[in-house]
Amino acid sequence: MGSRQILEVAVAAPLMGLFDYLPPPDTGVGLRPGMRVRVPFGKGTRVGLLMGLKATSTVPDGKLRQALAVLDAEPLLPDDLQRLMSWASAYYQHPPGEVIAAALPKALREGREPTRRRQLKTPPLAAAEVVSADVPPVLTADQARAGAAINATAGFRCFLLDGVTGSGKTEVYLRCVQERLNAGQQSLVLVPEIGLTPQLVERFRRRFPVPLAVLHSGLADGERLRAWTAARDGTARIVIGTRSAIFTPLRHPGLLVVDEEHDASYKQQDGFRYSARDLAVWRARELGVPLVLGSATPALESVENAQSGRYERLVLAERAGSAGQPTAHLIDMRTHQPRDGLTQPLLAAIRRHLAADGQVLIFLNRRGYAPTLVCIGCGTVISCTRCDARMVLHQQRGRVTCHHCGSERAVPEDCPACHADLRAVGQGTERLEQALAREFPDQVMERIDRDTTRRRGEIERRLERVHSLEARLLLGTQMLTKGHDFPGVTLVGIVDVDQGLFGTDFRSAERLAQTFIQVAGRAGRADRPGEVYLQTLFPDHPLLRVLLADGYGAFATMALAERQQAGWPPWSSLALVRAEATERPLVFSFLEAAAALARTALPPGLRVLGPAPAPMERRSGRYRGQLLLQADARRVLQRFLPDFRAALSALPAQRRVRWSVDVDPSELF
Ligand code: ADP
Ligand code: ZN
Repeated sequence: MGSRQILEVAVAAPLMGLFDYLPPPDTGVGLRPGMRVRVPFGKGTRVGLLMGLKATSTVPDGKLRQALAVLDAEPLLPDDLQRLMSWASAYYQHPPGEVIAAALPKALREGREPTRRRQLKTPPLAAAEVVSADVPPVLTADQARAGAAINATAGFRCFLLDGVTGSGKTEVYLRCVQERLNAGQQSLVLVPEIGLTPQLVERFRRRFPVPLAVLHSGLADGERLRAWTAARDGTARIVIGTRSAIFTPLRHPGLLVVDEEHDASYKQQDGFRYSARDLAVWRARELGVPLVLGSATPALESVENAQSGRYERLVLAERAGSAGQPTAHLIDMRTHQPRDGLTQPLLAAIRRHLAADGQVLIFLNRRGYAPTLVCIGCGTVISCTRCDARMVLHQQRGRVTCHHCGSERAVPEDCPACHADLRAVGQGTERLEQALAREFPDQVMERIDRDTTRRRGEIERRLERVHSLEARLLLGTQMLTKGHDFPGVTLVGIVDVDQGLFGTDFRSAERLAQTFIQVAGRAGRADRPGEVYLQTLFPDHPLLRVLLADGYGAFATMALAERQQAGWPPWSSLALVRAEATERPLVFSFLEAAAALARTALPPGLRVLGPAPAPMERRSGRYRGQLLLQADARRVLQRFLPDFRAALSALPAQRRVRWSVDVDPSELF
């Protein structure tokens, strides 16, 4: 028979492991990992990725099927990406074929050619050269030091660029990208989903008249393929993208950047649950290039990595230009009763800033008119029929909607139980907008949240009215806190800082601190000093006191000490087994079987917590429960997971639930 080749192919299917095939007819020579192959699978065919070649298979000869065709003359993916995907599949315990499917543009998954058919949608080089690139500012001493440290790095090194908002982190990225361009290398810049604003991309375009590829979830298939191909063949010198852009192939990689590295959108929350930030660390090491993680509010894990010396911390302590730090004031809502969410001291501050030609940003991370609609007679709360959640009143649309499953209906006229009147309790941005319009009838106001920006181009239109200073009152949710510069804003008001003070998740405090610092950082970015007002019922809360008095760094130290005492990450490693089904007992019989399995094989240093219902047990008509694995060390967990996951797939109870394993979960629900 002579030596024969067996192909190990990753096929998109919910099974761990690779599939063995015989080579297709007329090939055998020139087969290399990273090429796509068309293979028979079940009754149909699939496009898979060749991951390896071997001489023997454990599949009996008669059952081994033959691949149908090789689709590429060259490997589609460079080595480092193949290794990244294999590693990610093992680390996150997700089927390799599905990992690859998540990482490849659709057109390529379907077997199309990666060749570039049309020009990349960047300004043609000639035109860009005529429009002179902008003049870079003279770097501050901190910026110069940070840039020099990064640019002096030849191989892999991870930098934590820890700089207050407005300290010029982006300017440091630009200088490092410049350095790599000069060396003929590409840079990959990851940004949070919501941070991929035209503003940011424009800054790169203005500075560098070179082809640039932008990758985000809103691209059409063809656009995505072109951007991907341009990165792969080296045409695109700069690649800017959201989470999944970490899987972009690069011909001449020189630098990786993760902006706002603490941002929750870097963690995929369904299917293949990876962290793009963590994969960036792995990939930069494989590529032997520097990685810059930038944030004003670094994740506690990253802070700890810097403290332990694994990352090199670079500090930008001052705002760039002449902007100073804003001053913060607490408003005690126990002594200052709010009306429609607004206290007198906050209203007075708004008035003062508007009179001085300032611009005002009011932050409330809750959309809709009111989060609760309650009966004044019997106390019945209007709830979602499919979730353990309240319906949110959207008065303008005349609907109540569930923010968890999206179901909605007309606003009930009266209480469904006793027919007494209903009252709207609490406030969302819609109600706040009305209250502000009453108080400041002559002001142009922009509200920015998911409800006001559904239409394409709407967010840009609204932001433009803010930037042109036509609108002096700006109101919105989390959407406002990321990636937007508001040079005219002199006052930031945080309507309800208490949201999150008493969260159930061990990350609640961290998230609250990050949101607070990011929102406050919008004030006084230009040469005007800013003020921040926070309304709270808990002015003595230690977290608020430390944040206000000493800033995020002091908060991080305190929060890390608390985590260490409680044994939470980064002092432990977690994996969460989630399960859901339309019937509650099915969820728990699976999770109890899973817990029993884990306990029989439990290595030292690993604990099993639960099973327990998810914090919101019923969602979209399904019951949800979870089991937490907590290990003293990552290594312990990683050694345990493969067999455990395999055993889970063999449980009879698993067939009647939807389940998943989430390694390094970012939220415990
Ligand atoms: P960050 O990314 O840290 O929020 P940016 O890089 O966006 O900060 O910088 C904030 C503002 O300061 C921008 O308007 C930027 O153009 C300006 N800036 C950055 N570096 C300098 C500098 N060295 N001198 C003057 N202005 C600067
Ligand atoms: Zn619902």
